[in-house]
Amino acid sequence: MKRFPTHILPLLALGLMVLSCGKESAGPADAIPQEVINKISAMGFNPDGIEKVDEGYRIERDIIITGEFLEGAHVDAEVPNAEQYRTFNVVNTGGNRTITVYIPQGGNNGFSSTYVAALDEAISRYNAQNLDLVFQRVASSGADISFSRLSKRDERRGVLGSAGFPSSNGNPYGQIKMSGILQSTYGLGVNGIATIMAHEMGHCIGFRHTDWFDRSISCGGGTSNEGSGSVGAVNIPGTPTGANPNSDLSWMLSCTDGGNRPFTNNDQTALDWMYNGNY
Ligand SMILES: [Zn+2]
Repeated sequence: MKRFPTHILPLLALGLMVLSCGKESAGPADAIPQEVINKISAMGFNPDGIEKVDEGYRIERDIIITGEFLEGAHVDAEVPNAEQYRTFNVVNTGGNRTITVYIPQGGNNGFSSTYVAALDEAISRYNAQNLDLVFQRVASSGADISFSRLSKRDERRGVLGSAGFPSSNGNPYGQIKMSGILQSTYGLGVNGIATIMAHEMGHCIGFRHTDWFDRSISCGGGTSNEGSGSVGAVNIPGTPTGANPNSDLSWMLSCTDGGNRPFTNNDQTALDWMYNGNY
């Protein structure tokens, strides 16, 4: 039996691509202990579609919840508006911090040259904002953030990328898993892949989905709230209410059509507030 999620294929036929919004139930081999589901629910996360992965648990197919967050007791309620959001934890920059990024190239577990070009594009988008964070691609492992391939199973299922949130000691999340078949299977080019990479890098430095409170804004389908969870979903000052995904395609919207999403004005406001003279 093929593992393609049935809701993905009709969307693809319409030219839409789901970044992360799978709701399919996991198979018996992936059963999540009820205790964990209860814990995640109690912390305010939407437990639909939780998956066990190497790093911890994955929700909404792109957000990693590690043990640190599972053990966290901070539960917070936020009033949702369509604006930019951050987690409680952020990256401590000290006013000037270089974050190295590594992507392995070639071979069964590496990425094509298109991905390398896409990472350089994503990095240049951030660095063009003149933030206290400067991303720098490095050629060897041991970087602050390392890319690696999703499992072949996840790639076949249409998972595009996953990442987690900063640690409580102010470091970025260190691992971004990406599908390696975005070009070959979905026809994405440098800008489409760079957009997904910039999205996952956004999670690593503390950005939540712009539409976390109702993923249907970008994903379509029924109303779906991720929950603020123990990691928090704190509105970033200065981002206007009532953002419209039709005219304001934030790079942190939950779902993408695979197109190019450079930072919007509101995205730039959010990045500036977070990482220009603040943390
Ligand atoms: Zn995401």
